Amino acid sequence: MKQPEVRICMDCDQPTLIPVSRDIQIYSSSIRYKCETCEAKIEIQPLASIGVLITVGLLVLAFWWYILFARSSDTDIIGTSIYIAAVLALVCITGIPLLAHIMNPVAKNPDRELPDLTVNSEHIAKKLILYLEKFGLLGGLIAPLILLLLAMGIVFIIGYINYTFFGI
Ligand SMILES: [Zn+2]
Repeated sequence: MKQPEVRICMDCDQPTLIPVSRDIQIYSSSIRYKCETCEAKIEIQPLASIGVLITVGLLVLAFWWYILFARSSDTDIIGTSIYIAAVLALVCITGIPLLAHIMNPVAKNPDRELPDLTVNSEHIAKKLILYLEKFGLLGGLIAPLILLLLAMGIVFIIGYINYTFFGI
């Protein structure tokens, strides 16, 4: 997300949903909006954060699927139930913030300029989170994969060096 924008309020349909504050949560930032017409309040999570959550969630589910179903021949009902619950949980924690974006779309031509929201937080990854959140949904979806490839590349290089120079 670039700077937070004016959005159209889902309660009163007016383009008067104004960002009032932004803070850092555990793994993403969250922008609070308040409607100047009907006083409605809403929190919007940047799309990039939702994208990261989707990719990481799917990776975990895929890995879990592999352990649960692909490797063992007898899967019990409890393991399957927990897995289904995890899938539903992922759908909820990514679907609900996505729905907030769809229900309160960005206003095309707001008739006002917004001040930059300063982020007051001592979060250790604040800069990284704010940087990543500039890239939008696609950037968020891809970021964990790049990180994974980098990690695998480093492991590969270390293994290669060991094998070539030390014969381990
Ligand atoms: Zn409103």
